[in-house]
Amino acid sequence: MGVVRGKVFMSKKLGPCPDCGTPIGERHREGCDIERCPHCAWAALGCAHFHADDPRREVWNGKWPGEGDCERLGFYSNGDPDFPDLNRLFTDCVWDADTQRWERKQ
Ligand SMILES: [Zn+2]
Ligand SMILES: [Zn+2]
Repeated sequence: MGVVRGKVFMSKKLGPCPDCGTPIGERHREGCDIERCPHCAWAALGCAHFHADDPRREVWNGKWPGEGDCERLGFYSNGDPDFPDLNRLFTDCVWDADTQRWERKQ
């Protein structure tokens, strides 16, 4: 069983991956459209860097990739905490493959 980190997720987001149907705590299945490449944070599907045996791959935790970063950085559409502004990760941040986190551009 995966570590839940003592965090309470919004119930509407708890559930299997909407694309590949993998349950929380497991890795996405091959060809999943939602999984991000751990190397560059773009879609894993079709990315040349992505390998299924990459140890940095994260398990599905019920949240869209990048949502946790939006919460940490305070990126919300119209300031609404229910709507993390994922686009700002790509415009305002750089992906740090070592920490597997988005960080603000300096
Ligand atoms: Zn998936
Ligand atoms: Zn990649």
